[in-house]
Amino acid sequence: MELKTINGVVIGEKPYGETSKILNIISKENGVIGVIAKGAKRLKSPLRSVSEIFTYACFQISYKEDKLSTLISADIIDSFSNIKKDIEKISYVNFISELTKQVLKQSKNDFIYDMYISSINKIEEGFDPMVITSILELKYLDFLGVAPELNGCVVCKNTNVVTLSSDKGGFVCKNHYSKEYVVSSKTLKIIRMLKYVDISKITKLDISDLVKKEINDFINEYYDRYTGLYLKSKDFLKNVVKLK
Ligand SMILES: [Zn+2]
Repeated sequence: MELKTINGVVIGEKPYGETSKILNIISKENGVIGVIAKGAKRLKSPLRSVSEIFTYACFQISYKEDKLSTLISADIIDSFSNIKKDIEKISYVNFISELTKQVLKQSKNDFIYDMYISSINKIEEGFDPMVITSILELKYLDFLGVAPELNGCVVCKNTNVVTLSSDKGGFVCKNHYSKEYVVSSKTLKIIRMLKYVDISKITKLDISDLVKKEINDFINEYYDRYTGLYLKSKDFLKNVVKLK
């Protein structure tokens, strides 16, 4: 047992016994960890408010490697009150949380946590959750080892490209084009820009619905084809977006 302070976000909670909860926390220091919050279901417990889903805090824990750690106290950094008011935003954050958990299983890079937090912050600030999610998904492909080719044609590197092909794995030029859906030229420019943007520095996102949709469709197909990830939260998210 070791006392530790971790910076993290509660991404899941389930009841444990009569009065306690087990939390799943994505942390900067230790990746995804399980933490028991004893008595957190009691009305007067100081752990009650900090053990809610999507609480972003500094958690003091008694850390046990490969076992459940115990929550001692927490200082809230943000409770993401705007996100919690909106089922669509909740669905996006739920999805990116589940995705981040999967990415962290395959790569232990500090950037993953930072980009994840920046994305939630931007959704909380009111930026389009679909675009923020697309950016994060694009960036995560690097850590999943299957980054698409977005510098030039995936076959010949020619920078004069005509569309995106999830099948071929990125941009294609007119010589290597074969009946793929042709996206708008704006989409080609913007998807490349989104891949390299620093999420924490975004101050404006002016992207048309068509471009958003074309980028989102490409990413969805690409994930299905190359990552082997199946996330229930993505299906849920698709249904929520459809109902809008
Ligand atoms: Zn080519």
